Amino acid sequence: MGAINKLRLLYQVRKNQWLKTSELEELQAKKLRAIIKHAYENTEFYHRKFKDAGVRPDDIKTAEDLKKLPFTTKEELREHSTGSMLARGVDLKRCLITETSGSTGIPTKIVYDEAADDFSKAINLRSYTENGLCLRSKWAVFKDLHHFQKQQWFQKLGIFSPLQLSVFDTTDKQVSILREFKPDVLDGYTSSIRLLAKAVEENGSEDIKPKAVFGTSEILDDEMRRYINSVFDVEMIDLFGCVELNRTAWECGEHVGYHIDIDAVIMEFVREGEIVSAGERGEIVYTGLYNYAMPLIRYAIEDIGVPSSEQCPCGRGLPLMKLIEGRSDSFMQVPDGRIFSPIIWTVIMRRVPGIGQFKAIQERKDLIRILLVRDDKFTQRTIDQTEHDIREVMGEEVNVKVELVDEIPKEKSGKIRAAVSKVNIRW
Ligand SMILES: [Zn+2]
Repeated sequence: MGAINKLRLLYQVRKNQWLKTSELEELQAKKLRAIIKHAYENTEFYHRKFKDAGVRPDDIKTAEDLKKLPFTTKEELREHSTGSMLARGVDLKRCLITETSGSTGIPTKIVYDEAADDFSKAINLRSYTENGLCLRSKWAVFKDLHHFQKQQWFQKLGIFSPLQLSVFDTTDKQVSILREFKPDVLDGYTSSIRLLAKAVEENGSEDIKPKAVFGTSEILDDEMRRYINSVFDVEMIDLFGCVELNRTAWECGEHVGYHIDIDAVIMEFVREGEIVSAGERGEIVYTGLYNYAMPLIRYAIEDIGVPSSEQCPCGRGLPLMKLIEGRSDSFMQVPDGRIFSPIIWTVIMRRVPGIGQFKAIQERKDLIRILLVRDDKFTQRTIDQTEHDIREVMGEEVNVKVELVDEIPKEKSGKIRAAVSKVNIRW
């Protein structure tokens, strides 16, 4: 597809948001019928799943019909994403493959073909351009090393071209890069922005005065939001999504909730197998509407959300959801005073062979317990390297205790969190 076509996609999805909700639901149902038929006819995984459930593609006409189908679990995705979930004829060499680095500590490969990637980028950009990102904004993004991306199509046109900052650089280094860059827009993990805000507040920086700040909702509590807003004198915009489906919901300037991208995904909110009512919390179940390379139908992502029947004063037809307040007790402060964001865990641990899943628990400032589920590459070296790599990053005063377990216990919310600290942080 040419660049013009790609910009047309952005134009199209920006227009979509102003349709009436009922019109958007019609568009959604049309896309749903198409992807259901495609998944049934072209993927072994869903062909079998639909058959086993006694459901024919024609039985699924609207989002409400999805309840006839079973969920797709994270485990199934991990096992089959590059196998039986791939559509017939997909050439992996021509696809974009990303890995989840979610809070569970289990990496999963996600496959997008070019058309899906283009559409996904358009949906993602919509959440930014609606909140102040302009064609040539000076846009700085915090990334973990695994998500450093090659230039996107729109960046080759010299537009929407972000400066990428590593979350592993010291805050001092980030500050000095940003002083020079003078960003209009700051974007990335909320935890990284929180740490940056602290440095800016303490040392002052006239040059870091973004007009817009975007955070991704790995964790955001009221205190964090207030703090970031006050340091940068902005109203930060929180974005919601996941690696599996990219952007799926976002705040507009009204901050009433998150507008769900229902022209790109279906979000169901489920509790004990039933769809919850507006205002009730439920587990988010996603059906992607545009990725024909690796369709995802009723994917249970183990995330919690609350559907809302409120109308947003902004007038967009994209319906709203709310989030349960995030938790900031995933930050860890070590004896020398440094504070680490939870992002570090997935990256440290991914380098170590033999880990199926993990959870880091800070018991005391100088004691971190690692619960570890083995995979088939596990050896004694897995334990040694885990201890070594953590102390290398967090400091030699930190004791690391690895405990082998069969399963990582879930939180009350149903989520698995990769990092929890029992130590209060002195910010
Ligand atoms: Zn709105």
